[in-house]
Amino acid sequence: MKKTVRDVEVRGKTVIVRCDFNVPLDENKNITDDIRITSAMPTINYLVENDAKVILMSHLGRPKGEPDMKYSLAPVAKRLEELLGKAVTFISVPEVVNDEVKEAAKNLKGGDVMLLENVRFRKEETKNGEEFSKELADMAELFVNDAFGTAHRAHSSTAGIASYIPGVSGFLIEKELEFLGNAVENPKRPFVAIMGGAKVSDKITVIDNLLKKVDCLIIGGGMSYTFYKGMGYEIGTSILEADKTDLAVSLIEKAKEMGVELLLPVDTVVAKEFNNDSEHFTCDRDKIPADYMGMDIGEKTVALFSEKIKNAATVIWNGPVGVFEMDTFAKGTKAIAEAMAECDGMTIIGGGDSAAAVKKFGLNDKMTHISTGGGASLEFLEGKVLPGVDVLQDK
Ligand code: ADP
Ligand code: MG
Repeated sequence: MKKTVRDVEVRGKTVIVRCDFNVPLDENKNITDDIRITSAMPTINYLVENDAKVILMSHLGRPKGEPDMKYSLAPVAKRLEELLGKAVTFISVPEVVNDEVKEAAKNLKGGDVMLLENVRFRKEETKNGEEFSKELADMAELFVNDAFGTAHRAHSSTAGIASYIPGVSGFLIEKELEFLGNAVENPKRPFVAIMGGAKVSDKITVIDNLLKKVDCLIIGGGMSYTFYKGMGYEIGTSILEADKTDLAVSLIEKAKEMGVELLLPVDTVVAKEFNNDSEHFTCDRDKIPADYMGMDIGEKTVALFSEKIKNAATVIWNGPVGVFEMDTFAKGTKAIAEAMAECDGMTIIGGGDSAAAVKKFGLNDKMTHISTGGGASLEFLEGKVLPGVDVLQDK
């Protein structure tokens, strides 16, 4: 268990908080979705209410290790002021930290909030450069990591900084560890995992790790065609990783050995072309025509998978079971989301596209937990230690 802001004294202390303010912006620099900012507010408000001097930092976009004002955090500073109902000190300098910034940090009073410029303006950030880590650490007495989405990266602002000052988690990371961690290590059973997405190679380590934990593993999406191929079925023009068919077969065997039920789609929606308006129909998995590609799970599969999901005590879902971005081929993914919504057990979504799908269907509120970190939640489910979590103090 990692310490959280609740486990340490923050009153009167200067606390530097790594947030995930990587928000989408339109051409006029308006924030089009501020969920990442509002999600960070519980930790920020806690620190403000407890009289900490708060310094916030984040990356935004991919500025390629040099200052690019296109990616300035200025719009975030403005939104933070609205949410906090008070001024936020924001000194936009390309070097992120300079004398002026250090001076402003020194002059903060209990309850004050300051935001640093995009940490990726510094090329050392993503290299976990010691000098930058130290510059950040020197301004504060305590480091709080609340950016789960970058916790799988060892950067200056996510990991390096904790070599110089003690680190604890904010409420967002606490929640992620509680739900993702508990679900995987201490699940109520039956424990069902649904894996989807385009490629087997993206998910192989997760599948390997989850096979050791789950009672039932459901596989859908683009990767199921690589399994089909390995099983000897014709898959037409479906997405295929030809060099992964043996691996797919070995996973099926492994599941059998371990007594884990492994479910693959029994029918599939196939289309002539990869577009929403393509001619399409549903067929059994052994009847895919040579000039058609698999785009979604079929109705029989929906019934099979939904039954498993609804009766589970714990469900983890990572990866859409079809090309959900196209409405015509979103039905299977929607049905999976609905089955999860109906499940009385703990329902957890890990993965950027799966989270986007659930949101698209308006079922957010029906899930126990939707992880905010795509890559991070994947690595977590792979059983990897996340550097941005590892550096935090143990309870
Ligand atoms: P997540 O972000 O939830 O981990 P992934 O990134 O692994 O999910 O996979 C999502 C992508 O997989 C989506 O863009 C979706 O269109 C694609 N996908 C799902 N099924 C298929 C399919 N049958 N053919 C091609 N792509 C697919
Ligand atoms: Mg994705």
